[in-house]
Amino acid sequence: MQSNSTSINPLADRFGRNITYARIAVTSMCNLRCSYCLSEEHHAGLSSGDSMSAGDIERLISALARLGIRKIRFTGGEPLLRNDIAELVGAAKRTPGIETVSITTNGVLLHRHIDALLDAGLDALNLSIDTLDRDRYRSITRRDKFDQVKANLENLLVRNALPVKLNIVMMRGINSDEIERFMEYTRNHPVTIRFMELQPFDDHQIWRTGRFLGIDKIRELLRQAYPELRAHRGKSTEYFSFSLPDHEGSAAIIPAYTRNFCSDCNRVRITAEGTIISCLYDKHGIELLPLLQRQAGFDEIAALFMQAAEQKPENGRTEGDGGTLRTSMSEIGG
Ligand code: SAM
Repeated sequence: MQSNSTSINPLADRFGRNITYARIAVTSMCNLRCSYCLSEEHHAGLSSGDSMSAGDIERLISALARLGIRKIRFTGGEPLLRNDIAELVGAAKRTPGIETVSITTNGVLLHRHIDALLDAGLDALNLSIDTLDRDRYRSITRRDKFDQVKANLENLLVRNALPVKLNIVMMRGINSDEIERFMEYTRNHPVTIRFMELQPFDDHQIWRTGRFLGIDKIRELLRQAYPELRAHRGKSTEYFSFSLPDHEGSAAIIPAYTRNFCSDCNRVRITAEGTIISCLYDKHGIELLPLLQRQAGFDEIAALFMQAAEQKPENGRTEGDGGTLRTSMSEIGG
């Protein structure tokens, strides 16, 4: 393998899939406790979830760029809990080869970071908000932050500075009656609403309790509300995308569980603890942190990513180790 500073060694797996997209969890700490994600006591006993320092993350991104990664998403835990999040975005944006840098956030702390994030060149933002009802928000997230999040979202949209998508995990009997409310939100707001399926990664395993709402049901509820709805096939992860006439925003259905995107998978994930995860369903990652911490050279780091690509299953759901799924998305960053 070549190791001069400009060479690219594109990362591909055994099935010919090129890996061009990295999701980096920059912390596993979160300031919400969404019932389908984290238990109240999830981090008890931990003093910090930030195992990767800014320097570690910058070295990681520079190696990823040389491995052909073009898109970085910062996630967590809650990425805006890191005071240096805008610096991380700036560093990623300055890395030759990286084309797009985005963030997935719950938006609670957006007012603190938004100016710096935009100055740093953030390209896109996904904001998770499962309900537009204040009391329901408190009940789902176990924190009273709805007013703050809603105000932050509206301030962001008024700026019209970057594409904004809203992540909504659909749960039967919890927010399944809010489809029209979210669609109405697209009338005067330039957002993409993403109705998502619940996935089997949570501390309480609530997806086993009848709350799961599959895309066919979501689609049926949409059709009942909007018989005139015209849907078209979306990009690989979006089963459908659609918009209503005269609405500024649009919507999509994300079959995170029932449909399998494995054949199109171009992702690698790095946990906040600096572990490489080649597949969402892979319980065993590859430990990268010690290499980052001792400032190992590109060849050593690249070798671990190539090992991860080698281990990437053709189909994670059928080949994964089933019963031993990760306990929470906050570990792997969604
Ligand atoms: N804290 C940030 C946020 O709330 O967007 C980023 C991390 S969060 C783990 C990323 C996304 O994963 C959120 O949209 C969240 O709703 C989603 N998520 C977490 N657990 C999930 C589950 N069991 N099924 C489906 N989506 C889940």
